[in-house]
Amino acid sequence: MLTNDELAKWDRESFFHPSTHLGQFARGEAPQRIVTGGEGVFITDRDGNRLLDGFAGLYCVNVGYGRPEIAEAIAAQARELSYYHAYAGHGSEASITLSKMVMDRAPAGMARVYFGLGGSDANETNIKLVWYYNNILGRPEKKKIISRWRGYHGSGLMTGSLTGLELFHKKFDLPLSQVIHTEAPYHFRRPDPAMGEADFTAHCVARLEELIAAEGADTIAAFIGEPVLGTGGIVPPPEGYWPAIKAVLDRHDILLIMDEVVTGFGRLGSMFGADHYGVRPDLITCAKGLTSAYAPLSASIVGQRMWDVLMQGTDENGVLGHGWTYSAHPIGAAAGIANLKLIDDLGLVENAGTVGRYLVETMRAAVGDHPHVGDVRGEGMLCAVELVADRDKRAFFDAAEGKGAKVVAAMLKRGVIARAMPQGDILGFAPPLCLTRAEADQIVSATRDAIAEVLG
Ligand code: PMP
Repeated sequence: MLTNDELAKWDRESFFHPSTHLGQFARGEAPQRIVTGGEGVFITDRDGNRLLDGFAGLYCVNVGYGRPEIAEAIAAQARELSYYHAYAGHGSEASITLSKMVMDRAPAGMARVYFGLGGSDANETNIKLVWYYNNILGRPEKKKIISRWRGYHGSGLMTGSLTGLELFHKKFDLPLSQVIHTEAPYHFRRPDPAMGEADFTAHCVARLEELIAAEGADTIAAFIGEPVLGTGGIVPPPEGYWPAIKAVLDRHDILLIMDEVVTGFGRLGSMFGADHYGVRPDLITCAKGLTSAYAPLSASIVGQRMWDVLMQGTDENGVLGHGWTYSAHPIGAAAGIANLKLIDDLGLVENAGTVGRYLVETMRAAVGDHPHVGDVRGEGMLCAVELVADRDKRAFFDAAEGKGAKVVAAMLKRGVIARAMPQGDILGFAPPLCLTRAEADQIVSATRDAIAEVLG
């Protein structure tokens, strides 16, 4: 067996890690962790650590690690049919069964599900379907996509453009010209501290109206948003936000894409964020929670009004020229079936609601009054603690101080993984949906002690 030092050296010399500081990593100055196993909400590594994963990988291991039901379903599928494509009407029992299970759980008004591999490609699919739709309807000018600052929708060319975080644009010549951004529904960072949630919703709606008026509704195809902003800081929307936004979109004949890559299949304590917030999108993007990341698989769920037009389009133009080799991969589908069954059997949607609420409430009680904690917020099994230099002024720390990353490092010493979100000093928590109250307590006490260590 390789020694830890040998593996670490190969890692530094051969492996191009995503979202990593390349120079620091190659020089051995950046953190390096070689993960060996996982069980429930814990992972283990080559250095002998056992860590409570308060971020479920990248908010994806929703049923927790080491579930034999999913491992066995994957092995059985690999033995029986490892792969066949889904082009030209082909499928497998697994992919067809999963499509039925997804549609049985989807919000009202959805018509079909298209399977891909991950969140980014599912959003690419959705944007292409929106463009195809408007071309079929004879409105080739109606193509722009509105996204929000602080939204996260992937890191491809189009999806990286939709993402509203500077890090993902800088030095990549993004965003592409078809993408425009509007205000983030980020109440803590509202322009006027006196604004209540409902006032701030009205403000976001007014900004959207201004953008639509400036660009022209006949040039705008769709609006994309996560039900709760995720990578942009874990920010639940202010009161009444989604129905108010949807009303504006309807008035201007603009489609709604809900990016439920994080929220789909239970994370908010509802099966989908669309149901949670009472809106009917035209397209829903899913990935992570569909298989709990036991295998890569994504889903673009298409609403009826788009489906009717897509069918008309192929009647006029022949086959839809869009597909991936691994669309509806049977192994991903087998993982998805076993995963959705586990979510039902273990009551994980309900657990996400109840234990998630407990996590946010105990977190607020533990750190909410600290002079450097500006906000504790969350929804379902999502929670964030926003650190500030000055509470009354809601002033940011100097980014170069890396206070969020320092608190996350101090939490690791206490055996708990949190995520320093990429913009601002925000500690993010998105544990597996099977988290227990005792495990939530462990996250909260590690957070409290780490904040005290770093910030006094
Ligand atoms: N949309 C959202 C809301 C996400 O959080 C992510 C990933 N964090 C993506 C899309 C992109 O998914 P992937 O990394 O699987 O391409």
